Amino acid sequence: MTDIIKLLPESVSNQIAAGEVVQRPASVVKELLENAIDAGAEYIRLQLKDAGKTLIQVADDGCGMSETDARMSLERHATSKITKAEDLFAIKTMGFRGEALASIAAVSQMEIKTRRKEDEVGIKIQVAGYDIQSQQPEVMPAGTVITVKNLFFNIPARRNFLKSDKVELRHCIEEFQRIAMVYPDIRFSMTHNQHTVFLLEPETLKKRVVDIFGTSLAKNLIPLQSDSDIVNIHGFVGKPENAKKSRNEQFFFANKRFIRQPYFNHAVETAFNELIPDGHHPSYFIFLEVPTERVDINIHPTKTEVNFQDARAIYPLLMSAVKEAIGKFNLSPSIDFDVEQSFQIAPPKDLSQIKSPEISFNKDYNPFEKQQNPQTSIPYSPNRIKHSGWGGLELPETEADSVLKQNYDETKSETFPQNRHEEGIFQLSRTFIVTSVKSGMMIIHQQAAHERILYERFMKKLEMRKPGSQQQLFPQNVTLAPSDAGLLRSLSTELREVGFDIKNIAANTFIINGLPEDMTEKEDVGVFLDKMLDSYKQNQQLLKNDKTINLALAMAKNMAIKPGRLLLAEEMKNIIESLFACQVPERAPSGKPTLVIIKPEEILEKFK
Ligand code: ADP
Ligand code: MG
Repeated sequence: MTDIIKLLPESVSNQIAAGEVVQRPASVVKELLENAIDAGAEYIRLQLKDAGKTLIQVADDGCGMSETDARMSLERHATSKITKAEDLFAIKTMGFRGEALASIAAVSQMEIKTRRKEDEVGIKIQVAGYDIQSQQPEVMPAGTVITVKNLFFNIPARRNFLKSDKVELRHCIEEFQRIAMVYPDIRFSMTHNQHTVFLLEPETLKKRVVDIFGTSLAKNLIPLQSDSDIVNIHGFVGKPENAKKSRNEQFFFANKRFIRQPYFNHAVETAFNELIPDGHHPSYFIFLEVPTERVDINIHPTKTEVNFQDARAIYPLLMSAVKEAIGKFNLSPSIDFDVEQSFQIAPPKDLSQIKSPEISFNKDYNPFEKQQNPQTSIPYSPNRIKHSGWGGLELPETEADSVLKQNYDETKSETFPQNRHEEGIFQLSRTFIVTSVKSGMMIIHQQAAHERILYERFMKKLEMRKPGSQQQLFPQNVTLAPSDAGLLRSLSTELREVGFDIKNIAANTFIINGLPEDMTEKEDVGVFLDKMLDSYKQNQQLLKNDKTINLALAMAKNMAIKPGRLLLAEEMKNIIESLFACQVPERAPSGKPTLVIIKPEEILEKFK
């Protein structure tokens, strides 16, 4: 029998090796960006077409390569970064395996253009599926431009396996962000199909994080710093109230590499434990520096999984660093956790001038009784007090209102006088509005009720399709994460209809000239938009409603007053009135009840 074992041709073994390194366009993005960093570049430009499926190009102004090095760089295990085994334990560069370019060349049509500063002209090499097609001199500025076209053109199975452009682009953006965050002193740009996605000037780390993730983060980052022999920790954690339902803003870096480390994530989330509601996750951007010989970055070809020899010792250090940072921030006098910040209102100037409110809603109204004549049972106060202290519940008079008012005038003599007691409305635990109705004690959930009110108001505006907003005294600039910016652009008509006046002035930057009248200028629009888009995305995934409903839901949810907010008597009265003017006053848009009525009999039970 003849021998059957053969050596694979190099092209095949390169394709197999490529499978480890190059899984999708984002892998190419990562390797090329890392090479540019290792080359000492100060300005790195990434261009993509069709989420990188058609074209990925990285241009840098780094050290460049000689002609021989350019040819060599395509060989597997060709690297300028390590020479001996021991070097593996003191790696300071991003790459070191010498596999990336060879692997990419094996599965794409690649072009390398490169010139060192000291050389007169550069060189251009074209490769397709690992075969060198051409090589010629190239007049170009110092640096390197690597162009990767038609990834997996020679492996249709892999190409078919790629996800939609949207998904692949998201992966590319993630890789870009993970690198741009670590090198805030390098200028980066990223374009997709000729549109600028990022343009990042050299900056401090904090500003870089904000440039990438949106201006709403600026006020929400708490600095972190802790040094010891085992590990130096620095970076930022997001304030607890900035917690997100997704984990998109959680980043660990070890010795300047993005890593995944569920064990350390646990340490951070535990530190936040009590401060964040279930199902939410803190944002963090944490950089760990550990002695290179105490960490093994070699175990995974894409190097996001890392072995720390001192993981157990790092865990408590990390947790206490985070706790300490939150604690410091917590002690600062400007912060009051009890009160929802975005809805702070100025205290009344003269307390003695505030009159206790007149109760003028229909106490016979029971939302659970079927209405015979809905108009007469909708409560209305003819002398509602307009006040400008907050924007939440001021009610401009509408046509429907005047009809109701008429109705009130006709019915008030029958309904109100006999029922009028001087019992009040009061707030319980800064969460509920309590008042007495004929059938018992009515307890309204302030947030649920306000969500219902706002939801119907926004739905109405969206159905009218008439733009209208309140001009802002000071237009605000807001920069969003690229995916959020895209979403915002796609909602621009609807946002106009609910009252925003928003202009897209640069890639991901918007200027806000006007706000819906239900929003106060005191709110940080960036934070609001961020949370609102977050809810919108969730609604999109979970509920699959149409755009209008999703937007009205997201707006109502994020604009509604939250538990913890102290309400003035007038505000409570307005909530009650507006709630009972709704089509479905008894349910929040989520379906949860907005109010309960406890019957006197039920209360009597308690006294037995
Ligand atoms: P590694 O980065 O692991 O060394 P690569 O295959 O990514 O392996 O690159 C091979 C070699 O090509 C590098 O070691 C480096 O010398 C050279 N090289 C790659 N990209 C660049 C670049 N943008 N500028 C200068 N040299 C580069
Ligand atoms: Mg490399």
